[in-house]
Amino acid sequence: MSASRPILIVEDDPALRATLAEQLMAEGGFLPHEAESAAEAEAKLADADARFDAVLLDVGLPDGDGRELCARLRRGGKNMPVIMLTGADGELDVVRGLDSGANDYIAKPFRLPELLARMRAQLRTFDNSEHAAFGIGPYVFRPSAKLLHDAARGRKIRLTDKETAILKFLYRADGKPMPRQVLLDEVWGYNSAVTTHTLETHMYRLRQKIEANPGSPTLLRTVMGGYILDRATTQFPRSPAGGTPRPLHQQAGERSVPGRDE
Ligand code: CA
Repeated sequence: MSASRPILIVEDDPALRATLAEQLMAEGGFLPHEAESAAEAEAKLADADARFDAVLLDVGLPDGDGRELCARLRRGGKNMPVIMLTGADGELDVVRGLDSGANDYIAKPFRLPELLARMRAQLRTFDNSEHAAFGIGPYVFRPSAKLLHDAARGRKIRLTDKETAILKFLYRADGKPMPRQVLLDEVWGYNSAVTTHTLETHMYRLRQKIEANPGSPTLLRTVMGGYILDRATTQFPRSPAGGTPRPLHQQAGERSVPGRDE
């Protein structure tokens, strides 16, 4: 049930755009969206209900320069990875592309595996950055801020270091059950003398904080031998914008949720 990561492909060449979308879809793990112009891309990125984990951005667009579009996105606070697709691989183009705030560039014609490798590398880096935010049930989870934010209810939950580490680790388990011992080793370290009782205590407190009904948890569930984070579960009524699982990086970064950065 691992959700696909939405990627925006901004490319005016219809054949290349379709190929990229098709290949990303076939690759699995990605949900491609398409825009054929800078204006269409900006409209899609400005949609408060949309989220894109990364942008593949052509330099030469019919209504503008991709590098300028990238610079505008950065100024607008969007910090998801942007990979420029450049026609010319001259050094000047490269430098200008990176100056505009792009994370990487790839010159056409490129091989798809190389593009995918670069995109995955950028997504990995981003997931570990201070900007990273992930969807868990009704919350946006921001590990660097040690915060869960339920925007629909205007509710913020502060987490301890250990609670943050537990959620982060369970999130990365990608919906797979995590044995108690593995969780203990990952969160407390291999040489710690901490017992599963300590872990259970932390789980208890975490459920009190995040579950609608801590007695019958729907997010942090106990399974045979360990725990599972059901991050796609929606336990509260949501606005139509809600209920989407999986990373919400740029969404968390761009939505002007009141008090988000307090
Ligand atoms: Ca073009």
